Amino acid sequence: MTQTPLKLFNSLTRTLETFTPVHEGEARVYTCGPTVYNYPHIGNMRAYVFADVLGRTLSWKGYSLTHIINITDVGHLTDDGDAGEDKMEKMAAARAQSIWDIARHYTQAYWADVEALNIRQPAKWSIATDYIDDMIAWAEKIAPEHCYELDSGLYFDVSTVKDYGRLARAVTEDGEGRIETVEGKRNAADFAIWRKTPAGESRQMEWDSPWGRGAPGWHLECSVMGEKLLGFPFDIHTGGIDHREIHHPNEIAQNQAFCGCGGLDVAANSGARIWMHNNFLVERSGKMSKSAGEFLRLQLLIDKGYHPLAYRMMCLQAHYRSELEFSWDGLGAALTRLKRIVMVVERLRDASPADPAHPKFAPMRDKFDAAMSDDLNTAAALVALEEALAVKKVDDGVKRSVIEDMDRVLGLGLFDLTRAALRIRPKDAAITEAEIEADLLRRKEARVAKDFAASDAIRESLAARGVEVMDGDPLGWEWKL
Ligand code: AMP
Ligand code: ZN
Repeated sequence: MTQTPLKLFNSLTRTLETFTPVHEGEARVYTCGPTVYNYPHIGNMRAYVFADVLGRTLSWKGYSLTHIINITDVGHLTDDGDAGEDKMEKMAAARAQSIWDIARHYTQAYWADVEALNIRQPAKWSIATDYIDDMIAWAEKIAPEHCYELDSGLYFDVSTVKDYGRLARAVTEDGEGRIETVEGKRNAADFAIWRKTPAGESRQMEWDSPWGRGAPGWHLECSVMGEKLLGFPFDIHTGGIDHREIHHPNEIAQNQAFCGCGGLDVAANSGARIWMHNNFLVERSGKMSKSAGEFLRLQLLIDKGYHPLAYRMMCLQAHYRSELEFSWDGLGAALTRLKRIVMVVERLRDASPADPAHPKFAPMRDKFDAAMSDDLNTAAALVALEEALAVKKVDDGVKRSVIEDMDRVLGLGLFDLTRAALRIRPKDAAITEAEIEADLLRRKEARVAKDFAASDAIRESLAARGVEVMDGDPLGWEWKL
């Protein structure tokens, strides 16, 4: 199978570009990670499923991947610009806990979601507070030509670099869309790269710097960690679409300053060759983080009886650049689809792997490669996988290897899943699986004995406890809570 060249949509040029690595045979990717002041919602996790699919595709295409995801444990304000309080400080104060404890707790929670969604471990989780010295050194380097000091901190003057805001397609002359929140800023879009602790106050997280005690700006963190760990220019920088508007344009401006680079007609001057952004998961009734009073985090889905990989499936069914609307029905449909696939895969599990290069699978494998190479079209790739599963009269070992190969990219972990594992008991269910199975066994015996009254009574009693008995269900669920 000859591989199709990988095309990716570059937000900087707003075009599809063929991926050509900066370093032969390698792919270096930086993904903006979470601010660990709260649990991630499932919208946040869409950003990491996307980055994971990108990384898996690059590995599958044969590139040696170095993927960095950062953990922001300082510096991200409640507004992406310069307004508001530090998200971490605010949560720590509300909880009367130390920031370090808050960071540790929510980093662990994020990592648990990463694992549950089969997101591969990056080469490194870079923790922002581990790089404070590097950030100060960086700021010292760019300050003379690009920054100015105000009482509140050290500010980056966006008029000192060419093409500021190109990524956002923003009109910068009047700082459109930005609210001037800091007295004395030269341009509305200027941003703090170091925030001084106000006189007479102290922060839980603060460090000495040439500009006084304080903390780094959020945008500086990602520039510094990207440069330190991957070198400029690296291949791909990812994040959610909101980052295209402020965070990434600011990172790019700092990167240009650091490198002494020219304008953005040369994409690599931005620090990365390709900037990629996933669109949002949206919730019709309002904010992602609060839906009908419920916080939409992965654990809520699990508590309601949905396997976390059903959510991964839901993400894969949409293109990453399309908005995806969350609904429980949609999630249920994704779970059913996953289960249909797993039913067939369960039968392949014991077959010995064989060479997947069999002519019968060539059309599906080509289709799969073409789909993934077309800016990660996972929706079409899933169809190719299902078509491969449906191929008749072929050696199970070959089929197994074909599916395994495709799943390396999609990351559903199909060969580790079982139908039983996919059926999760909702947290508030009043009945255990053992009780259900025992009742169903009694019902089967009653039916064999043609005692239909008893069989119906058992069915009714299960229904009263929220168990739907599904006779003849083609998916073989048999029952559902
Ligand atoms: P944050 O912790 O706020 O920096 O967000 C973590 C990641 O989630 C960032 O890449 C955001 O762009 C992304 N993100 C935030 N909300 C959503 C959403 N509703 N859907 C998809 N991605 C999102
Ligand atoms: Zn970032």
